[in-house]
Amino acid sequence: MTVAAVINLSGSVFREKAETIKYYNRMRGIGMIMKCVVTGGAGFIGSHLVDALLAAGHEVTVVDNLSSGKREFLEPHMGDRRFRLVEADLSGEGYVCADFKGADTIFHLAANPDVRTGATDTKTPITQNVMATYNVLESMRLHGVSRIAFTSTSTVYGEALVVPTPEDYGPLLPISLYGASKLSCEALISSYCHTFGMRAWIYRFANIVGDRGTHGVIFDFIKKLRASPKKLTILGDGRQSKSYLHISDCVEAMLFVVENAREQVNVYNIGSDDRFDVTGIARVVAEEMGLNGVAFEYTGGDRGWKGDVPFMALSIEKIRALGWKPTHDSGASVRLCVQQLLKEA
Ligand code: NAD
Repeated sequence: MTVAAVINLSGSVFREKAETIKYYNRMRGIGMIMKCVVTGGAGFIGSHLVDALLAAGHEVTVVDNLSSGKREFLEPHMGDRRFRLVEADLSGEGYVCADFKGADTIFHLAANPDVRTGATDTKTPITQNVMATYNVLESMRLHGVSRIAFTSTSTVYGEALVVPTPEDYGPLLPISLYGASKLSCEALISSYCHTFGMRAWIYRFANIVGDRGTHGVIFDFIKKLRASPKKLTILGDGRQSKSYLHISDCVEAMLFVVENAREQVNVYNIGSDDRFDVTGIARVVAEEMGLNGVAFEYTGGDRGWKGDVPFMALSIEKIRALGWKPTHDSGASVRLCVQQLLKEA
């Protein structure tokens, strides 16, 4: 299947097809074909990563329990002999994934990504994030796989006193169980690297937005306004202000970091340079839905929920120095995401 065909079938994450093809050709130019496993590859970010890896010529096995991921996101690749979907739960005690055998690189994305969960269900972040990551690392160790790329988060910084927050900021004191679980995963990964000679690329993401998004503030606002177009309840005071990055930039940065960062354990923030506030997002959603005079109602307080970090921006100087920069700022990422989600269903 040609690159253009893959992009056509999968629904491009990029706006300009010519630009996309140029990018994938550059990736192919690197000439290294990898056998990749993408855990959580049926999810929002994972399925876009799978598109990019296949388009770049790599072989991909997705391991996913389809708890929030969707088979339909991967439908365009069914029948491609370089692609396989394995339905499995990575979090079971003692689970070893036989499908890691012979893999070069594991992209480990499978997780419960909802920051809110831990406030009412303390076990899920531990089983779905920490235990699943332990099982991934054990599966790597037992099958002699030495490269892992891991999706961590800005929430590991907690309420940082330095904003934009650089990767070497500390002490790292997360305020959500989600942030704590991801920081635990980072620690496990680092220790496996040093104990068993592995290499790791750890991404600390800002808020990633775009088509196929199945959770998060934009998704929630669209859902609420479709149900009730005259008023919108906004959690907190609407002034929470965070960095947003479009999925097209995110996937490009993930692959760029794996190809170019050369330490044994590489930690990179991935985000945009600026921030966007929640009321601003509500306005963009209402505008793009063609709704006038929507009444915004605020639940009050400086944050949306327990564990919410109201002001977040990541320093992206380190990845800039490596040679990558985002093409969309937070506002453009949000607007593009709203337009794309409105076209879906
Ligand atoms: P998502 O829910 O769309 O994807 C997660 C995928 O993992 C889903 O396909 C789900 O079915 C699968 N999964 C969950 N538990 C599993 C298990 N035990 N075994 C096998 N598969 C399992 O979420 P996403 O937004 O695409 O997030 C992907 C990764 O990026 C997660 O690790 C998340 O924590 C991280 N991240 C996301 C954001 C963001 O803004 N979306 C920000 C920071 C970090």
